[in-house]
Amino acid sequence: MAQGDTQDTAAARLKHLNEFFREHPVTGPAVGHAPSRSASAPLSLGTLSHVQASVREVIEHTMDVNPDAPMPPARADAVYDWSREHTANAPEAERQRAETIEYRQYLEHAIRAGDVKVIRPHRCPECRCLGLMWQDDMQRALCTNSACVDRGGFSHTFTLSQLATEHIQRQKNVRRARAT
Ligand SMILES: [Zn+2]
Repeated sequence: MAQGDTQDTAAARLKHLNEFFREHPVTGPAVGHAPSRSASAPLSLGTLSHVQASVREVIEHTMDVNPDAPMPPARADAVYDWSREHTANAPEAERQRAETIEYRQYLEHAIRAGDVKVIRPHRCPECRCLGLMWQDDMQRALCTNSACVDRGGFSHTFTLSQLATEHIQRQKNVRRARAT
C-alpha cells in the first residue's frame, strides 16, 4: 500500500490500480515490439478491464437496490461512497450484499496489485485456523492446516467471495452482539 493512504479500503486499492494504469498505459497488443512484462508484472492490460468490471458490478447492484440513485460518479474509486450513500435505506440483506461486494473487491484489487498479504488475517472458514495461503494458479485461498482436508484428503480451498461473505457476516454478528 502506498504511503499516504490512511485507510486501507476498496476505494484506496482501486485508486492505486487506476493510477498505476494511467501512469503505465497499455494501448493494446504492441505491434513491432513486445510489451514489457517486467516492471508492471501483475498490472497490465487486464487491469483496465478489472477496474471497469468492478465499477460496473457496484453500479449494477446499487441501481438494482435503488433505481432512483443519481448518475454514478466519474471517478472510479468514488463509486463505493456513492453506492453506500444510495443504498443506506435499503433492506439489511441488500446492504450486507453491498458490503460483501465491496470487501471482496478490496481483496481482488489487493491481489491484482500483487499484495497477497490481505489473505493472512482471515481465519479458515472450515477449521477457524489462521494459515490461509493464496494460490495464484487456482485463484483460491488454501488452508495449510494439515488436518483441514476434505474426504478425498485434499486441503480445503476458498474463493475470495467465500472469504468476503464470511468476513462481513462475522462483522455483523460482532456489531449485533455489541448492540445487545
Ligand atoms: Zn482450515
